[in-house]
Amino acid sequence: MGRMENNIYCNCCGKFICQESEKGKHSYLSVRKEWGYFSKEKDGKIYCVDICESCCEKLTASFAIPPEIYDVTEFV
Ligand SMILES: [Zn+2]
Repeated sequence: MGRMENNIYCNCCGKFICQESEKGKHSYLSVRKEWGYFSKEKDGKIYCVDICESCCEKLTASFAIPPEIYDVTEFV
């Protein structure tokens, strides 16, 4: 899953999120992680993950320690 033919899909549920060209207008979690020297098994690999808002809710709800949440005070 993830990105196919300029479309972005949720890695978690497979739902279509938006087209790459419109990603600035949509809210979803996008993570790009370059695993480096300190990784045990993923050294030199890059992981790209897109997760839709509802899966992000479910995911963070399953955390042992909830994420830190702040109000946006400055819009860029
Ligand atoms: Zn999802």
